[in-house]
Amino acid sequence: MTEKVGAVVIGAGVVGLACARALARRGIETVILEANEAIGLETSSRNSEVIHAGLYYPAGSLKARLCVAGNRQLYEFCATHHVAHRRCGKLIVATAPDQEEKLAALKSRSAQNGVDDLQPLTGAEARALEPHLAASAALLSPSTGIVDSHGLMLALLGEAAAHGAALALKSPLLRAEARADGFLLEVGGEEPMRLATGILINSAGLQAAKVAATIAGIEPRHVPALRLAKGNYFTLAGRAPFSRLVYPLPEPGGLGVHLTLDLGGQARFGPDVEWVEAIDYAVDPRRGERFYAEVRKYWPGLADGALQPAYCGIRPKLGGPQDAAADFMVQSAAAHGLPGLINLFGIESPGLTASLALAEHVCDELAL
Ligand SMILES: Cc1cc2nc3c(=O)[nH]c(=O)nc-3n(C[C@H](O)[C@H](O)[C@H](O)COP(=O)(O)OP(=O)(O)OC[C@H]3O[C@@H](n4cnc5c(N)ncnc54)[C@H](O)[C@@H]3O)c2cc1C
Repeated sequence: MTEKVGAVVIGAGVVGLACARALARRGIETVILEANEAIGLETSSRNSEVIHAGLYYPAGSLKARLCVAGNRQLYEFCATHHVAHRRCGKLIVATAPDQEEKLAALKSRSAQNGVDDLQPLTGAEARALEPHLAASAALLSPSTGIVDSHGLMLALLGEAAAHGAALALKSPLLRAEARADGFLLEVGGEEPMRLATGILINSAGLQAAKVAATIAGIEPRHVPALRLAKGNYFTLAGRAPFSRLVYPLPEPGGLGVHLTLDLGGQARFGPDVEWVEAIDYAVDPRRGERFYAEVRKYWPGLADGALQPAYCGIRPKLGGPQDAAADFMVQSAAAHGLPGLINLFGIESPGLTASLALAEHVCDELAL
């Protein structure tokens, strides 16, 4: 028997859960299909948990617009839904005078994105805030913060469920077929089923291209090749003498090996950029060597042997190491010609920050 529902979301990461919440709040009967045995086991729990302000992305891009809007929405959501978070602020540092021009460029890019709270600091002013810092100049971003990503996902799921959404774990989408009135889905796992739906949101993260390729009716030219850029983290043994996040200037493929804090005050450093061919969440301890050199540029006091390999996440990239950074790709019928289908490709950073705004954007694309 084939059950018919209003919408199906593939993937219970933070973006899929935010989409399910947005659809369910609009009164649409929504089912979330998740291949794993729990929500949020992939990229959504393997990141820096930073609520970004929207400093880095080209003006007008989806990343810029949805990060800035998502930042505000996320703080409000966390406050009203009791999700642990802290508006701790961050310092972006120039570690040598020849980097100060790039810092100034970052400030004007942020202003174009509508981020008007960045405060330029001299090295001495930055050290007055963080005495252990080495910096020739810095920018203070007061609207950057940290969030408990798992608590956020539970709150999104809770609200989606309160509006009637259902979550099916261990339920991978195997294939789908575009029909005149929507999509017919074949779902695997312990309780295989067939579902018919008018709306299909492909929010499968690292598997989004693979999932799109299983939809009969979509032309292969609309399925981009996803490249994988792993980001490794190392934690600090003991307390870090910092109360704000500290970021160097961005590097190709990532935001630079930064210091981020979790809500318990534990410091971690990362992520680096390691281009890989397959998903493998093991962290090679040898990569720690480069971390010492990178971190000591802004924290010379980092002691030998203080870093322990921790965890990694993998960025679903729309380009390779030689390509310019790509924008989020929210692919709708205007591109692939299948009404009701949204493919979310390349949802790397700042996808956690942008999750609520991305979900609203998806609903706009569907004219809901
Ligand atoms: C190293 C790193 C650091 C980052 N740091 C930050 C940060 O500090 N701040 C920030 O805003 N963003 C950050 N991000 C980005 C952010 O983590 C992601 O944009 C976000 O988590 C993406 O969520 P998602 O729901 O799209 O994907 P995912 O969390 O990967 O969820 C996709 C889900 O789909 C499921 N799935 C896959 N295939 C199928 C199938 N066939 N059937 C059913 N389910 C399926 C998967 O099991 C998974 O649960 C970072 C990313 C990385 C990699």
